[in-house]
Amino acid sequence: MKIIMLGAPGAGKGTQADKICEKYSIPHISTGDIFRANIKNNTELGRKAKEYMDKGALVPDELVVDLVVDRIKADDCKNGYVLDGFPRTIPQAEALDNALVALNDKVDYAIDVEVPDENIINRMGGRRACVSCGATYHVVYSPTKEEGKCDKCGSELIIRDDDKPETVKNRLNVYHEQTQPLIDYYNGKGILNEVDGTMSMDDVFAAIIKIIGA
Ligand code: AMP
Repeated sequence: MKIIMLGAPGAGKGTQADKICEKYSIPHISTGDIFRANIKNNTELGRKAKEYMDKGALVPDELVVDLVVDRIKADDCKNGYVLDGFPRTIPQAEALDNALVALNDKVDYAIDVEVPDENIINRMGGRRACVSCGATYHVVYSPTKEEGKCDKCGSELIIRDDDKPETVKNRLNVYHEQTQPLIDYYNGKGILNEVDGTMSMDDVFAAIIKIIGA
C-alpha cells in the first residue's frame, strides 16, 4: 500500500503517518525528518536544506526528488510506504509519478488532512521537539510525562526554528501557493481522499482506516 499524506504543516499528518505505518508495518518516509537528520549530522545536504527550512521556505525540488526516488526503491518499501511531506510541489509530484511509472508502480491513496489556518497557528505555538532524537510533542494535545523532557530519550525539548510564529505564517503561505495545488492534481487522478483533521487524533485515524481498509 503506497500512501501520500497531504495537508498543511501542523495538520497532524506526521502523527497519522506514524500510526498507519505501525498498523501496516510499512516505512514512514518523512522528507522533513530526513533533512533534520542531515542537519543534525552536519552533512552538505543538511547545510543546504537548513538555509531554506529556517525561513519556512521549501527546499529546492532538485535536492528532494532523487532522495525520495532512491528511498522508495529500497527493499523495505516493497510492501508499501507512507510519504509524509513529499510531494510538496507539482514538479515533485510529476517526478514521483514518472519514477513510479518506470517501476511499473503507482500511488494508491493521497490523504488530505484538512485543518483551517487558525487552528494550525494555535497548534504550532504549542509544538515542542526533542533536541536529540527529534520526537515531537504538544504542550496541550500530546504532552510529555515530565515537562520539558523527551519521553523517548530524556533530552531537552525546544521550539523548532520552523515552528516559530513568523515562520509558521510563511510556511502556511508557501503551503497555499505551492502544495495545495496537489489536491486538485490527485483529485484528477481519482485517488484523493479528504479527512477532517480538526477531530481527535484517534478519530482522524479511524477516518483514514475507513478509507484504506482495516
Ligand atoms: P516538515 O517536517 O514536513 O514540515 O518539513 C520541514 C521543512 O523541510 C519544510 O518547511 C521545508 O523547508 C522542508 N521540506 C520537507 N519536505 C520537503 C519537500 N518535499 N520539498 C521541499 N522542502 C521540503
